[in-house]
Amino acid sequence: MKSHHTQGFSTRSIHHGETFSASTGTVMPPIFPSSTFAHGNSEGFDYTRSGNPNFRILESVLASIEECKFSTVFASGVSAITAVASTFKSGDVVLCEENLYGCTVRLFEQVFEKFGLKTIWVDFTSAASLQQIKKTKPSMIWIESPTNPLLKIIDLRRICELANTEKIPVIVDNTFCTALLQTPLQLGATLSLTSTTKYINGHSDALGGSICTNDENWKKRLDFAQKALGLHPSPFDCWLITRGVKTLSLRLNKQVRNSIALADQLANHPAVRWVRYPFRQDHPQYNLALKQMKGGGAIITANLKGDQARVYSTCKSLKLFTMAESLGGVESLVCHPATMTHASVNADVKYQLGIDDSLVRFSIGCEDLEDLSLDIKDALKQLL
Ligand SMILES: *Cc1c(COP(=O)(O)O)cnc(C)c1O
Repeated sequence: MKSHHTQGFSTRSIHHGETFSASTGTVMPPIFPSSTFAHGNSEGFDYTRSGNPNFRILESVLASIEECKFSTVFASGVSAITAVASTFKSGDVVLCEENLYGCTVRLFEQVFEKFGLKTIWVDFTSAASLQQIKKTKPSMIWIESPTNPLLKIIDLRRICELANTEKIPVIVDNTFCTALLQTPLQLGATLSLTSTTKYINGHSDALGGSICTNDENWKKRLDFAQKALGLHPSPFDCWLITRGVKTLSLRLNKQVRNSIALADQLANHPAVRWVRYPFRQDHPQYNLALKQMKGGGAIITANLKGDQARVYSTCKSLKLFTMAESLGGVESLVCHPATMTHASVNADVKYQLGIDDSLVRFSIGCEDLEDLSLDIKDALKQLL
């Protein structure tokens, strides 16, 4: 009798199809640092820039957790973005959410624009922006949800439906959620991109990126970009990320639980103007977040009552939250976007995006809630 039981997320992230362990019994996969492979081997390996056992192991587990057919891994999230951007030709238009990850914006505007790529930036939470899909007939729609750092939630299913009727591919940068909390391909997206540097690896000790898809043509294009542009990861980083993803649900579920409690604590603190967290009732797209996401994630954005200098020194005085860029590791981090991630963005754009000097972004880690809570309480005292 055939079983129709689908294994759970944790089981799939721990057990994966490819292990290359049949003859040795190794429980954990080895690292294959070889740059080249004997011609005619049965697995079809050739040269590591175009494929390696460690890439294939990681690709099989990432496709398994996204419940899709294919994944291609890259050296970083930005390498994955570059791979997709390299498929465009001069004159192509990409319709982008205006609040995309900063390096995506930089790549489009400072690199691919030189080759004739055109971008149109819209706020995908507004109804008017949806009309742009039919009007501009872009080659691709590029979205991210929740956005960084204001955690705006975009209706992925709605946009994918509109795009699919026009046969426009949609890519979703799913880094903030991972497949544990949101599955863009099931909502209709063509490509689901993740910087595996963040939650998937989870230990802030490797960079990586991946793109998942059910479309065989896209898989071929992405594999081509991996070798033709030299965007491949290292076997060792793939091995680390394969190890990291095994505990994704343990880590991220704990991070989500910590985040729910800390968002409440912040929201009730007199030195905090407002808090943004997708699964709080006061979030502008709360109902959409509940429908689209399986959890609110582990990023909290807060607006503190203080000027740039005082907010900065409050961040610095936190003991368990290192003031650093990036997110998604087991350790908590805090970021002051105005002076860090968005320092190079001009003031008008910052204002338009809602990023002011009082804004702080927390990446909540796996530490004990009581300790994180006390740390925040102590640091905020100086703003009272
Ligand atoms: C970090 C990040 C990226 C880029 O990933 P790297 O691995 O740093 O190149 C892309 N998108 C989002 C949303 C990110 O947070």
